[in-house]
Amino acid sequence: MFKKILIANRGEIACRVIKTAKKMNIKTVAVFSDADRYSEHVRLADDAVHLGGSSASESYLRSDLIIKACKEKNCDALHPGYGFLSENADFVGDLNKAGIIFIGPSKSAIASMGDKIESKKIAKSANVNTVPGHIGIIKDKNEAIKISEEIGYPVMIKASAGGGGKGMRIAFSKDEVSDSFERAESEALNSFGDKRIFIEKFITEPRHIEIQILADNYGNIVYLGERECSIQRRNQKVIEEAPSPFLDEQTRKKMGDQATQLSRKVCYSSTGTVEFIVDKEKNFYFLEMNTRLQVEHPVTELITGIDLVEQMINIAYGKKLNITQKDVKLKGSAIEIRIYAENPYKNFLPSIGRLTKYNPPKEKKYPDGSIIRNDTGVREGDEVSMFYDPMIAKLCSWGETRDVSIKRMESALDNFLLEGIDHNIPFLSAILASKRFKSADLSTSFIQNEYKDGFKGIIPNNQEEWTLGTIILAYHITEILKDFESLEGFSEEWQVHINYKSLVSKTSKLNFKIKKQVGDKIQLLIQPITSKKISGVANEYLIFDIQKDFIKKLVTASIRLFSDSNNEVSFPEKIQCRINYQNPSLDLIYRGISMSTTVLPRHIAEHHKYMKPIKIVDKSNYLTCPMPGKLIRVLVKENDIVDEGQPLCVVEAMKMENTLTASKKCMVNKINHKEGTTLSVDQIIMEFIFK
Ligand code: ADP
Ligand code: ADP
Ligand code: MG
Repeated sequence: MFKKILIANRGEIACRVIKTAKKMNIKTVAVFSDADRYSEHVRLADDAVHLGGSSASESYLRSDLIIKACKEKNCDALHPGYGFLSENADFVGDLNKAGIIFIGPSKSAIASMGDKIESKKIAKSANVNTVPGHIGIIKDKNEAIKISEEIGYPVMIKASAGGGGKGMRIAFSKDEVSDSFERAESEALNSFGDKRIFIEKFITEPRHIEIQILADNYGNIVYLGERECSIQRRNQKVIEEAPSPFLDEQTRKKMGDQATQLSRKVCYSSTGTVEFIVDKEKNFYFLEMNTRLQVEHPVTELITGIDLVEQMINIAYGKKLNITQKDVKLKGSAIEIRIYAENPYKNFLPSIGRLTKYNPPKEKKYPDGSIIRNDTGVREGDEVSMFYDPMIAKLCSWGETRDVSIKRMESALDNFLLEGIDHNIPFLSAILASKRFKSADLSTSFIQNEYKDGFKGIIPNNQEEWTLGTIILAYHITEILKDFESLEGFSEEWQVHINYKSLVSKTSKLNFKIKKQVGDKIQLLIQPITSKKISGVANEYLIFDIQKDFIKKLVTASIRLFSDSNNEVSFPEKIQCRINYQNPSLDLIYRGISMSTTVLPRHIAEHHKYMKPIKIVDKSNYLTCPMPGKLIRVLVKENDIVDEGQPLCVVEAMKMENTLTASKKCMVNKINHKEGTTLSVDQIIMEFIFK
């Protein structure tokens, strides 16, 4: 077996590969950039080599420095992870020349599959269903229009060298093709250094389902079932699962067979993924083949029990596959969610900064057999920088059934503590909680359809609001009771005033009566005071336990609801939420719900309405920069009148282009910066006048 391998990557995937190498008794060498000097992957590896500056082009993309490091450290082989050099055929050629084994497919397989036009041609010749369209280079706008008319609208205009969800546009008409074509070309040239464009039919509301392939150097190929990755935002995967709740055994086999045929055609070896889109009638069409380990590979590992990195290493070493198609059994259901440093309430703007708190749920097997796995490359105190993509962790759950797996994931997310940066956990919780996700009614436009105006946070229904209000009150009462023996002398009636932090402005006032204390432990029986009976709201809540974990900042409340109506109670009896307490203010966060509250004895609360409201400073006449980055495009001029939602400028940070939009209709009064300027947080980009 290999003695030593170099991992040409960073973050969670470098850590992931090192774990398996350790298991196989192979020594590991990490590489790192300036920004990653103290990173987890460097700490985990046996040895490490500094490459250069923080930007990828000065470090993780420097194939010359990486090959030099391999030689210096006497590595037999190299694992590329995903991204960076993983699908770079020239790099594989250079490695081979240097006598270092690439743990991945051959140079020629990468070259033929790396190009979308080329790979579609090969797929067609291997009898794989491809998306109807024009497989070839398109000369100009007029040819693009002619082709689109033949295909029929809507069409998708794609960059042949595209990837990572970039370089794609949908066009619904001749005018849109005419508008988009040249823009798509120049974008492709800028992003991928290759302006070739092709056009295919846009399949409406499809599912994204992909087949995992495993192949050795002796022509043995198996497929390890599929993953469904339909939950996407801007064509990038957010939640993935295996198996797909949509596929039947027959379609699975057909897709698996076609993926195998394609792999055979290009003499594929190592792991690879054949991506398909699937329409409502279960017709499936080839999209592309990814010639690497996929980000979402853990869900396949969880349902098959096969370590894909171990297989890759064995295959690269020259071993024969030790699995046949018959050995592949898909067991249970696994889900992966990608936790990103981004603000879901602000159009998913990337967020950077120090992880002042990082405390994920424990990776383990639970008594009901379900599993939590967390692939990450960060520790508390690490910096999420603007240089790399903003993924912090991939949290995975496994259960005997999809329902169990979802439940396990929901509570794991409740347990995930992240502070110091903005993150998408509230958004992920909201998706998992939605009826549509639970019933597996998925499509690639799921997020677009469900959050048409962006994510604004969740406002609970009446019943949920009363339940959370009760927990808030119970928290407050148990805090102040610490100094007392009983409730005697306490106000009996209390008011919880709730202000929602989500963008939808809503406030509520809930009145409660504390009825009694049960047994020697303090157990609170709390009764809502409502003028009219609200359907679904319990008559009484018994809080029989409220645990406060100050390290995880987690509150676990066990409640029993007494209700005379037979309405289904959607809330679990045990609720884990985050509470930030500064008597009498409490902030509560629970599964996408975020509330600021004040808890006061009712007679005092009633007086509050006579107090002067606090003045809020209005900053809406400025457009400030939400994160450090570079102003790459200004889309308006001074004195322009802009509408609500209209794009104003584009700021590039963390490899992402972020379009900043107008919050209201206004006039652009002053633009303070030119394109190309580097901006810091809160720097004023432009000023507005409202009429
Ligand atoms: P996979 O197909 O393995 O699930 P994706 O399609 O999400 O991965 O991403 C494809 C490639 O793009 C990956 O190699 C990944 O490194 C890179 N990538 C993923 N997310 C981002 C991002 N937010 N910005 C830039 N690149 C990304
Ligand atoms: P990338 O290399 O960026 O991963 P893909 O071709 O794999 O590009 O497409 C990424 C996503 O874009 C798909 O998962 C799907 O959601 C969407 N998509 C791509 N092509 C089509 C199409 N012809 N019709 C509908 N959706 C598409
Ligand atoms: Mg893809």
